Amino acid sequence: MDTRNWFSPLPKKSQRRFLKSQRKQLWIEIDQKTLLNFSSNDYLGLSQHPELCQAAISSINAEGLGSGASRLVSGDHPVFHAFEQQLAHWKGYEDALLVGSGMLANIGLLQALANRHTSLFCDKLNHASLVDGARLSQAKVYRYAHNDLVQLERLLQQHDAERRIIVSDGVFSMDGDAADTDALMVLAEEYQCLLIVDDAHGLGVMGSQGKGLLAEKSGHDYLIEVGTLGKSFGSYGAFILGSQAMIEGLRQRQRTMIYSTALPACLIQAASVALERMQQGERVEKLQHNIHFFVKHAQHLELLPSKSAIQALVLGSEERALSASDQLAKEGFFVPAIRPPTVPINRSRLRITISALHEEKDILRLIQALSHL
Ligand SMILES: *Cc1c(COP(=O)(O)O)cnc(C)c1O
Repeated sequence: MDTRNWFSPLPKKSQRRFLKSQRKQLWIEIDQKTLLNFSSNDYLGLSQHPELCQAAISSINAEGLGSGASRLVSGDHPVFHAFEQQLAHWKGYEDALLVGSGMLANIGLLQALANRHTSLFCDKLNHASLVDGARLSQAKVYRYAHNDLVQLERLLQQHDAERRIIVSDGVFSMDGDAADTDALMVLAEEYQCLLIVDDAHGLGVMGSQGKGLLAEKSGHDYLIEVGTLGKSFGSYGAFILGSQAMIEGLRQRQRTMIYSTALPACLIQAASVALERMQQGERVEKLQHNIHFFVKHAQHLELLPSKSAIQALVLGSEERALSASDQLAKEGFFVPAIRPPTVPINRSRLRITISALHEEKDILRLIQALSHL
């Protein structure tokens, strides 16, 4: 057997590579060049915040690094329970469940909630973790065009099933636009569906205290929200929010939690400090100011409409997006080109993300560089 040809070779331009990069606050070091980073999901700049780091260090000093087993065996820790309660209270849900990562949360969630007799109604631009979770669940999957709720309603009218679930990103990870969650909630109630909103890019970013797209409207029994700790929380891990009955059901059935080593407690100690910072509001407000400032000054650029920290400039071909990214690097900015299969063919783009740590002058300089592409 010749294993060298196991994977058919990709065209050179489509090959991805690791960058061996290293982040230092707002800067990123790549190939011995230091660039201003406009591509991190660490929207609040909390990943290098001294208080978060200190919380993690104290935890490691007190009880070590790894958790040693699944939570249901011997890997549980009081901080997991305390943080789940903090999250649930903050977001207005009855309960919450921590999971290893957003990818694991969504894969396990759909697998636990759905089976062959379930129908899932999914936005076509949903995150890969929701796509894979849907596949693994063996449910019937109906996909509607991005944010096309007329088509969604038609599908709901056409396809009855024992159980139905509408599944959508909150803020979409590659376009930066948002689902119309109010309308999704109306449809979910009218058609008696469960509604899952994965707001990985909205939590910590949108709404007061960064409560996300749903902000004060969350907490309904038919609603399940997913968030990650790896983005605005500056740590690692993820959580699922819902009613007490739902979360307890997941404790019994979420295989990606049951059969996986519990998160290191130090990451949750740090995430808990992150939540306190969000609740104080200052960093979230600075981020929201920066997003507004960027959008206001970039009106002449043809950005996709977005009120989130993700701002996409669609350039078309892979070559065009790559050369724009190279040009920006020459001018001192790190803004990667996002290409198929992450985005559709001929929708290659620059994906710019705004941080609370950026200063207005950084943002203006980037806009100037973008204007000259
Ligand atoms: C990043 C992301 C995830 C995955 O979260 P991780 O914690 O990084 O695994 C899931 N859903 C969406 C919408 C995301 O953007």
